[in-house]
Amino acid sequence: MTHQPYFTHPQRFPGNVEGPFYTTGTIVCGDSRYVGIASDCLQCLTPEHEAPDLLAPINKSNLNTHFVKQPCNADEVQRACNALRVCCVYALRYGGRDLDVIRQLENSPLFCDYILDEQGELILTVGPDGQLLPFAQAIANAWRFRS
Ligand code: SF4
Repeated sequence: MTHQPYFTHPQRFPGNVEGPFYTTGTIVCGDSRYVGIASDCLQCLTPEHEAPDLLAPINKSNLNTHFVKQPCNADEVQRACNALRVCCVYALRYGGRDLDVIRQLENSPLFCDYILDEQGELILTVGPDGQLLPFAQAIANAWRFRS
C-alpha cells in the first residue's frame, strides 16, 4: 500500500514501518559512545493494548514501541488513534495529511505533525529540530491543561 506524502519527523524511531503513523525515538549513549536509538515510549504495553496488530509486541527482543503496520481501514485508524492518545509522553504521532484522521486526533499538535489552521489550511507543527514550533506548543499547552 502506498501512503500519501507524510512528514518525516527528525526524531522518528527508525524501526517504524513506512507510513504516517510512527513513534519518536531518542539517541542513547553509554560511556560517551553511541549505543543506538530507543523509542520514547517503551514497555508499559498500554499503546500496544490499543492496537496490538499495528504495534510491535513488547518482549525480550523488542523493548521499543513502534508501528509495524499502518492502519488500512476505519477500524484500524481508530485503534491507531487510540494508541496515540494513551501514550503519556505523546511519543506516538501522525505525520499524514488526512483531514479525517487529524480531526479524529482533535487537531492537536500533541499528536499531529499537520493541523488545520483557522482558515482550514494544513500547517506544519514541528520544527527542523523535531520540537513543536512556538505557536503549536502554545496550542498543545492549552490542549493539555484544559479542564
Ligand atoms: S504509555 Fe507512557 S508509561 Fe507507557 S510506555 Fe509509553 S511513555 Fe511509558
